[in-house]
Amino acid sequence: MKRVLITGAAGFIGSHLCDRFIKEGYHVIGMDNLITGDLKNIEHLYPLEHFEFYHHDVSKFVHVPGELDYILHFASPASPIDYLKMPIQTLKVGSLGTHNLLGLAKSKKARILIASTSEVYGDPLVHPQVEEYWGNVNPIGPRGVYDEAKRFQEAITMAYHTYHGLETRIVRIFNTYGPRMRQEDGRVLPAFFSQAIRGEGLTVFGEGNQTRSFCYVDDLVEGIYRLLLSDYHMPVNIGNPSEITIMQFAKEILALVNNPKAHIIYNALPVDDPKQRQPDITKAKEILGWTPKVDRAEGLQRTYEYFKQVVKVS
Ligand code: UDP
Repeated sequence: MKRVLITGAAGFIGSHLCDRFIKEGYHVIGMDNLITGDLKNIEHLYPLEHFEFYHHDVSKFVHVPGELDYILHFASPASPIDYLKMPIQTLKVGSLGTHNLLGLAKSKKARILIASTSEVYGDPLVHPQVEEYWGNVNPIGPRGVYDEAKRFQEAITMAYHTYHGLETRIVRIFNTYGPRMRQEDGRVLPAFFSQAIRGEGLTVFGEGNQTRSFCYVDDLVEGIYRLLLSDYHMPVNIGNPSEITIMQFAKEILALVNNPKAHIIYNALPVDDPKQRQPDITKAKEILGWTPKVDRAEGLQRTYEYFKQVVKVS
């Protein structure tokens, strides 16, 4: 039985990865320091013989007994609100945490996949974003702590690959959504769903002309699974190229939730908020034979079912 370590296991994407690897017949070791993760996301796995959980901060030395075949490094605060609140921890988990896990991979002779992000492209001047684009990042802006940690993470991962011959994989994740997103993480989808269900104003930042391209979590997990098992070590974008403005997105959620009290309000646009974002997924298609399968109508419906259960209406 293959053994996989998943960091950030109690988070949104990490917990879905745990489910997938359990389903594929792996022994899964989850690790999380729970600063943004939630044990509720993985408690259904506790009774399973082939699931273990370690409450640990990977920015400190990581010890895992026994053999490891794969490591997936998904630990990090990942929403703009979270990394503004926890700038130092965000920098540490992307740098020191990644270094620790690369060292662990080397000592266990394991293959490691690290979670990078479309944020490495910053506020992109090339559209859609191809993997060869180097990005337009403000290192000292509010997003710098996340963007630069992830850029360093890619650099040190490539260094371990070239210098130590470590088997490495780098996925650049674009906006992803689905059940288990944290309601209070400030990201646009949990914010809009919570506000629409409660009959409040949906907080559109700026005029809502900025664009994003939203990928359903099951599609992302499939892409990550294929990348891990591929023999390709250069970064690969995984995301859904279907691009919309934030205003259109607010309107879709208003129509879906259909709460007569919900409406749109405008808040200030955050500093360095990327104006447009869309993945070029040619590489994922050609190398992994991967394309997203769940369209936004279907994905939003499934996600709405989740938020209906967790959003408290006073
Ligand atoms: N946004 C918004 N209202 C919110 C939260 C976010 O209009 O309540 C906008 C934000 O300015 C950005 C987009 O939605 O342009 C996506 O923001 P998110 O925080 O989800 O992630 P990002 O893609 O910026 O990392």
